[in-house]
Amino acid sequence: MAGVTIRQVSKHFGPVRVLDGLDLAIEDGEFVVLVGPSGCGKTTLLRMIAGLESVSGGEIRIGERDVTWVAPKDRDIAMVFQSYALYPHMTAAENMSFGLKLNKTPKAEIEARVAEAARMLKIEHLLARKPRELSGGQRQRVAMGRAIVRRPALYLFDEPLSNLDAQLRTSMRTEIKRMHLAEKKTVVYVTHDQIEALTLADRIVAMNKGDIQQIGTPDDLYRRPASVFVASFIGSPAMSFLRGTLTAPGAVALEGVDTPLLLPPSWAGIAAAPGTPVLLGLRPEAFVYAPGSAGRYGLDVQVNVVEPCGAEVYVVGEVAGQEVTLRCAPGNVPPLGTTTRVAIDLDGIHLFDAASERSLR
Ligand code: ATP
Repeated sequence: MAGVTIRQVSKHFGPVRVLDGLDLAIEDGEFVVLVGPSGCGKTTLLRMIAGLESVSGGEIRIGERDVTWVAPKDRDIAMVFQSYALYPHMTAAENMSFGLKLNKTPKAEIEARVAEAARMLKIEHLLARKPRELSGGQRQRVAMGRAIVRRPALYLFDEPLSNLDAQLRTSMRTEIKRMHLAEKKTVVYVTHDQIEALTLADRIVAMNKGDIQQIGTPDDLYRRPASVFVASFIGSPAMSFLRGTLTAPGAVALEGVDTPLLLPPSWAGIAAAPGTPVLLGLRPEAFVYAPGSAGRYGLDVQVNVVEPCGAEVYVVGEVAGQEVTLRCAPGNVPPLGTTTRVAIDLDGIHLFDAASERSLR
């Protein structure tokens, strides 16, 4: 069993408090992604799990074991870094086998494990090369191979794909997911890329300024974001927000819009009084443009920019002076430079208290 339990963990660097009493429970075999903007503390948390950074308070357990003060090499973990951290004078095979040699694994066993990992990562033909003779993507595979051969209880990934170009990043992402499906080991993965978080994670931990904002499945965070922060961070293009006021019964008067938007029955029980200032959140796909179809549940969108993007088209516009982004099908796009009525999918709306920025659901 190699779940990870973070209990009341704090970290400060001198007077700077980076994390303050953080709690997090990661299940055995789970793929958990820590995501958040630069400086939110995700790398610090990962490095504390690895033992590369000491804790200022609290406890870290891997499986049943309290590892808070255990040296990194004795934690049964393997870490993959953004910088790959390969030894330049060693071949790929030597880099992969180095850790096993250090802990005196028999030679035949080392060779078998390196061969197996190389096959899995499709780098068998590169094993005799030094890092300088490898491309960035190949180096990253060797770094992953070095982690795999150790057969650790826990993998820690620190932005492993950030130095790769977009295409390679996508294919390596699939490789990492394939590896997890095959090995079913616990993974803690740090990224600032919400697409990586959505595509890889069993559960996402969304962090901001040292706090955990929400923990949930990718679907939870996308469909039921708990705060404006999570709603804006997860999803691309980002959710649009329109200022308004809750009016009785069950409707939102949007700033600068004449007719209040009636809320669907699923919003009947929300805990907010009429008069509460709110932010109405709309994902790009909540705008449904089809000429002539928009009735009561529609908004007038001034179409400012049209961005074709292959299978879909993004439209950037304004509703009563507030910026919105729509996702449209090619060939079915409201005309540039017009103000056009666009239907709203009421099941796709989000409501946040404007003051606390927390979801009203
Ligand atoms: P990034 O994606 O940019 O790496 P992050 O979310 O991983 O960001 P951390 O690297 O964990 O953030 O840093 C969190 C905060 O702690 C930042 O404000 C950073 O400046 C600070 N910090 C990190 N390491 C140290 C250190 N050794 N001394 C002082 N402050 C530090």
